[in-house]
Amino acid sequence: MLTWKKIINFSIKGNPIPDKRVEKTVAEWKAQLTPEQFRITRLKGTERPHSGALCSIHEAGKYNCVCCNTPLFDSTIKFESGTGWPSFTQPITENAIKYERDTAFGMVRVEVMCNTCDAHLGHVFPDGPEPSGLRYCINSESMQLEKVL
Ligand SMILES: [Zn+2]
Repeated sequence: MLTWKKIINFSIKGNPIPDKRVEKTVAEWKAQLTPEQFRITRLKGTERPHSGALCSIHEAGKYNCVCCNTPLFDSTIKFESGTGWPSFTQPITENAIKYERDTAFGMVRVEVMCNTCDAHLGHVFPDGPEPSGLRYCINSESMQLEKVL
């Protein structure tokens, strides 16, 4: 299980190696994504709380990166945080996500990105439910739900 200590270590010493890499030009991402998806994933934007389509959905499935379709989270680790953004306690695999120290807006936070294509997803905080104690706070626009039929 990933812990806050492990995540801080990743953000300082380097991230786990992803299974594969997807790299595209800005023009290619722009052509593929909606303007809002582009703004959030490629320009590190944030959607308004409670605005995301996936915020209050609790259907079974996998939450994949909207840019490269890599599975990032699973519905079994989604929880209702009340923040207005989809929230998870763990990534689907340890190397699905990469972490970087984010000091924007005078705060020290840990930014969460897709480890395959570097899409900005959101942030992770050490105030989630037990046992991991983690809260991944993720933009709906960064993900697409692959439902389990
Ligand atoms: Zn991705």
